[in-house]
Amino acid sequence: SGAIAFRDVHFAYDPARPILKGVSFEVPAGKTVAVVGPSGAGKSTLSRLLYRFYDIQQGSITIDGQDVRAVTQKSLRSAIGMVPQDTVLFNDTIAYNIRYGRPSATDEEVKAAADIAQISGFIEHLPGGFRATVGERGLKLSGGEKQRVAIARTILKSPPILILDEATSALDTRTEQEIQAALDLVSKNRTTLVIAHRLSTVVDADEIIVLKDGLIAERGTHAGLLRQG
Ligand code: ADP
Ligand code: ADP
Repeated sequence: SGAIAFRDVHFAYDPARPILKGVSFEVPAGKTVAVVGPSGAGKSTLSRLLYRFYDIQQGSITIDGQDVRAVTQKSLRSAIGMVPQDTVLFNDTIAYNIRYGRPSATDEEVKAAADIAQISGFIEHLPGGFRATVGERGLKLSGGEKQRVAIARTILKSPPILILDEATSALDTRTEQEIQAALDLVSKNRTTLVIAHRLSTVVDADEIIVLKDGLIAERGTHAGLLRQG
């Protein structure tokens, strides 16, 4: 479940400046579609529209055939997990931040999610650099570690749909590879929309959509798009 369809989607934050001018594509259930394109093309906007932070002005966005406007915010949010570009964490323990993905989770489940994201070593720490135990110094999280917290949260939440928003753009190559491996695990068999800067980070996507000037300029597999240049 979790098939997504964008049909003839038009959207503008400001009516004088359309961002999406008729965008249609599908993410079949369990598949991964990546959206690439220049900065400002409207890639992140697509994810915000799916989440219904904003309503579109024309066209439709459906999940399993149901218009997102007909779904409650609560069930939309439980169906979709987002690993954002820039993870903002609560100033509470990493364990608390992970559990936010599914408040009913047991300590063991939180620990297991942290293990997969490779942050189980510091789940009792606070993100800002101090241990939960008063006075004891802890780690200050790097961008990559924060992203792992977001990944662990999403693993715990286990939603049918995943949005990965330029999830590895801010990282060095080694961290990027490690995080990519964790993300591959999470996105396996889930409907996944990847928002990416570079073609090189989305080699395994089932389809890649190139967004330009509010329209789909090209689409295909990684190999196909490389052949076209
Ligand atoms: P991308 O993810 O492709 O870099 P975005 O979807 O973030 O692009 O943004 C597309 C365009 O919409 C950009 O020109 C951006 O400045 C503009 N934009 C994004 N968010 C808002 C907003 N909340 N209000 C007005 N304009 C916005
Ligand atoms: P949950 O669905 O797990 O209860 P939220 O609905 O608060 O959590 O947020 C889900 C995800 O969407 C989180 O990863 C959060 O960082 C992200 N998010 C929440 N609000 C916004 C927003 N206004 N813009 C972009 N991302 C957001």
